[in-house]
Amino acid sequence: MPTSAHTQLRRSEPNEQLFATPPLAMDTEGIAEDFRRYYSHTLGRDRDCRSAYYTYKALANTLRDRLMERWKRTRQAHDEAGCKRTHYLSLEFLMGRTLSNALLNLGVDAVTEEGLSLMGLHLEELAACEPDAGLGNGGLGRLAACFLDSCATLQLPVKGYGLRYEYGMFRQLIEDGAQLEEPDHWMRDDNPWELRRPEYTQRIQFGGHTEHYKDHDGRPAVRWVNTHDVLAVPYDIPIPGYENNTINTLRLWKAAATDEFDLGEFNAGSYPESVAQKNAAEHITMVLYPNDASENGKELRLRQQFFLASASIKDVLREWVRLNGKDFTQFAEKNCFQLNDTHPAVSVAELMRQLMDDHGLDWAAAWAITSKTMAYTNHTLLPEALERWPVWLFEQLLPRPLEIIYKINALFLAEVATRWPGDSERQRRMSLIEEGDVKQVRMAYLAIVGSISVNGVAALHSRLLVEGLFKDFYELWPGKFNNKTNGVTPRRWLALCNPGLRALLDETINDGWVRDLDRLERLAPYAENAAFRARWHDIKQANKARLAQTVAQLCHVDFPLDAMFDVQVKRIHEYKRQLLNILHVIHLYNRIKRGDTQNWTPRCVLFGGKAAPGYYMAKQIIKLINNVAAVVNRDPATEGKLRVAFIPDYRVSLMEVIAPGTDLSEQISTAGKEASGTGNMKFMMNGAVTIGTLDGANIEIREQVGDENFFLFGLTAAEVEYRRHGYDPNSIIAHDPALLEVMNLLDAAHFNQFEGGIFDAVINSIRNPYDPWMTAADFRAYVDAQERAAAAYRNRERWLRMSILNTAHSGHFSSDRTIGEYNRDIWHMEPVPPAPVR
Ligand SMILES: *Cc1c(COP(=O)(O)O)cnc(C)c1O
Repeated sequence: MPTSAHTQLRRSEPNEQLFATPPLAMDTEGIAEDFRRYYSHTLGRDRDCRSAYYTYKALANTLRDRLMERWKRTRQAHDEAGCKRTHYLSLEFLMGRTLSNALLNLGVDAVTEEGLSLMGLHLEELAACEPDAGLGNGGLGRLAACFLDSCATLQLPVKGYGLRYEYGMFRQLIEDGAQLEEPDHWMRDDNPWELRRPEYTQRIQFGGHTEHYKDHDGRPAVRWVNTHDVLAVPYDIPIPGYENNTINTLRLWKAAATDEFDLGEFNAGSYPESVAQKNAAEHITMVLYPNDASENGKELRLRQQFFLASASIKDVLREWVRLNGKDFTQFAEKNCFQLNDTHPAVSVAELMRQLMDDHGLDWAAAWAITSKTMAYTNHTLLPEALERWPVWLFEQLLPRPLEIIYKINALFLAEVATRWPGDSERQRRMSLIEEGDVKQVRMAYLAIVGSISVNGVAALHSRLLVEGLFKDFYELWPGKFNNKTNGVTPRRWLALCNPGLRALLDETINDGWVRDLDRLERLAPYAENAAFRARWHDIKQANKARLAQTVAQLCHVDFPLDAMFDVQVKRIHEYKRQLLNILHVIHLYNRIKRGDTQNWTPRCVLFGGKAAPGYYMAKQIIKLINNVAAVVNRDPATEGKLRVAFIPDYRVSLMEVIAPGTDLSEQISTAGKEASGTGNMKFMMNGAVTIGTLDGANIEIREQVGDENFFLFGLTAAEVEYRRHGYDPNSIIAHDPALLEVMNLLDAAHFNQFEGGIFDAVINSIRNPYDPWMTAADFRAYVDAQERAAAAYRNRERWLRMSILNTAHSGHFSSDRTIGEYNRDIWHMEPVPPAPVR
C-alpha cells in the first residue's frame, strides 16, 4: 500500500540488465576515488570546506554502495533457498555507530584508512562525526544489536524488527553534579545507513470495535471496524556479517498518518483540528521510553508495542503469501518470532488475529501456528519490570486482540483445571488476567502460554525463573523452559574497539579468533611469557591513555596512568549498587585523611550511566557521586592516590573507549537481581579483571576464568533471601568501624556542606531494614575484595597474568556462541550463504 504513486515499470521479465553493474572496487584507490566523487560531486564541497562532517558523509556513501551491492544478493539467496526464517522483535536496538563496523565487516578498514591518510585525513576523526543510534536503554537493546551482528556473521536468515524513533535515548548533561536530560534528535541530518521502503507500508488499526458475522460459507467470523488507522513505513538498515558477503536486515517502522481526513470535522470548518489529528498518529514513533528495567503504563507505550507487533507480523505474512501463496500449512516449520522481553508480547494475540481475520484460518489452525512459532526471552526478575496492562486500556485501544486474549485464557485455564482439578487458587495465580480493583493483562503469562520456548539469559537467572516467578508454568510445561546465556559480539567489542590488542592477537594466534572466539584459549600459555606480558602491558597503557584523555576532556579530571582504572558504567539503578561503590570511595578517602596509606595502590574510579528521568533515587546517586568526586579531587591529600570522575552521556561509542582502558570491572549488583549483564563480558574480553557478586553471568565468568582471576565477594542469591528476615543494617554499621566512619561523613553533610539534607533519602535507604538491595550487608566483604584487588594490582606481573587469562577465557561470551544455541535449540535454521559479488 504505497503512500505515493509507485508506477510499475512495463516489464514482463525482471530486467537483469538493469542490475548488471560491475562490482565496486574494494581496494585503496577505488575507495578513495568514490570518496572524492561523493565529497565534491554529490555533496558539492570544495577546498574551503573545513567541516569533518562532510568527509564522514562521503565515506558513509562510499560504503553504503558496497553494502547495497551485497544486500540484495542476501535477500535473493533467502528467497531462493525457501529457508526457515527468524524474526527478532524488539522495541530496542542500541546500535551505536555504523561506519567503523561496516569497514571492519566488509574487510576494507585497512585500505580505507590508508586511502584517507593519503588525502591527509584520519579515519578516527571522520568516524567520530557519526551520532550513535541510541534506539535503546541499555543491556537489552545492546543485546539485540550484538545478536544481529552474530546472525549475519553466522549467515542465519534473521531479520530484526523495531521502531524508528525520531528521538533516541536522551543525551545526559551533568550540571552542578546533577543529571539534566536533553532530547537526542539523532536524525536531524539524514541517516545514510537507512533505505526507505514505502512500497512495503502497512496499515495498523487502533480503537474501534468488533463485529461478529457469518462469512460466505456460513462460518463465524470477526471484523475489527471503525478503527483509527496509522500507516507503518519501513526503513531498512543493512547488517553486515563479518567478511562473508552476507548483509541481513534490520527493519524499523516509522508511524505516518493516513491521507484521510475526518470529513465531518473538515466540513464543519475544523480544518486545523483535522490536520492536527494526523500529527497524533506520527507521535507513535517519536520517542523511545527511557526506562530500563521498569514498566511504564502509558497508553503511548502500548501503542508502540502493538504498532511494532502488527506491522512486523503483516510484513512477514505478506512475504509468506508472495513466496508461498495462501497455504499456511508449512508456515510454522518455516518461521519463528523471537520476542525480546514482553514488550512485543501482544504479537501472540496479533498473529492469531491476522491468521483468522485476514487470512481465514480457524482458531485451531491459527493456534497451532502461533504456539509453535513464538518464542519468548525473559530479561528480568524485578517485579517492577513485569508488564501488565489495564484491561480497560486494551479494550479501548485493541478490542479485537483483547477478545483473543480472553479466549486464549479460557482455553488455557481449562487445561490448568484438567491438570489440577479443583485447584482454583492455582487458576487464579496462572490466569492471563489479574483480578483486582483494576483488571490487568499479564503480558509475561501471555508470552509463556503462546510460546514454544521460554528462556532466561544466564544460568542463575533461568534457574531462579523456574523456581520463582514462573514456577507454576514450569510444573505444567517443563520442556518449554531453557537458558541462553547472553554474549557480546567480538567484532565491535574487541576487534573494533581495541585495535592494539587485535594486532597482538592476530600476530600471536592468527586472526581466526574473530569468527571463533574460543580460539582465544590459545593465549593462556602466553600468560607465563614475560615478553608477551610486556607487550600486553604496553597495549593496556596506550588504551588507558586514550581513556584518560577522554576523561580529561569530558570531566576535567586527571587520571594518572600508573593508577588502577576502576570502572562502573551501566544504567544507574539501586540494584546495580553504584551506591556501594561510592561508599567504598568514601572509605578510601577517609583512609587517606586518617593517614592510613601504607601499601597504597593509586586508584582512578570512573562512573557513568543514565538514570531514568523519573527515578528519584537514581538521580540522587548521580549527584552523590559527583559531590564526592568534587571533594576528593580538590583535596591535595589525595594527589597521586585517588581520583573520581563521572563521565556524562554513557553510550555505546563511549564504551568502545572505556572497556579497553579498564583494569578493574565493577559488577556488584545484589545477588539474584541482575539477570545476566553484558558489560561484564565486554570488560573481560578486553582484559579487565572483575570484582563482582555471584549474580547473573558473573557466575559463569568466574567459572571460565577461575576463582584466582576474579575478585568475588558478597552474599549469594539464596543468602540474600534468607538474610532479608531480621536484616539489621544499623547493627552492621555499629559493628564495622570503617562503615561507621563513612556513615558519619555522610551524616555530617561532608559532601553537601551547602546543600543541606539533599542526600537524606540515599542515607536512609542504607539504614532501612527493608533495603531490598542490602548495601550495608555486603560492605565489609566488598572492601576486603577491593583490598585484594589493590594488592594484586601492585604486583604488575601477577596482574598482567590475570588480565591475559581473562581475555583468554572470554570465548564463551561471544554472542556467536549464544546465537548458535538459540539456533540449535529454538530456531533450527541452516546457514544460507549469498552468491558472491562478481
Ligand atoms: C553493554 C552496555 C550496557 C549493558 O551494561 P550492563 O553492565 O550489563 O548493565 C548498557 N549500555 C551500554 C551503552 C552498553 O554498551
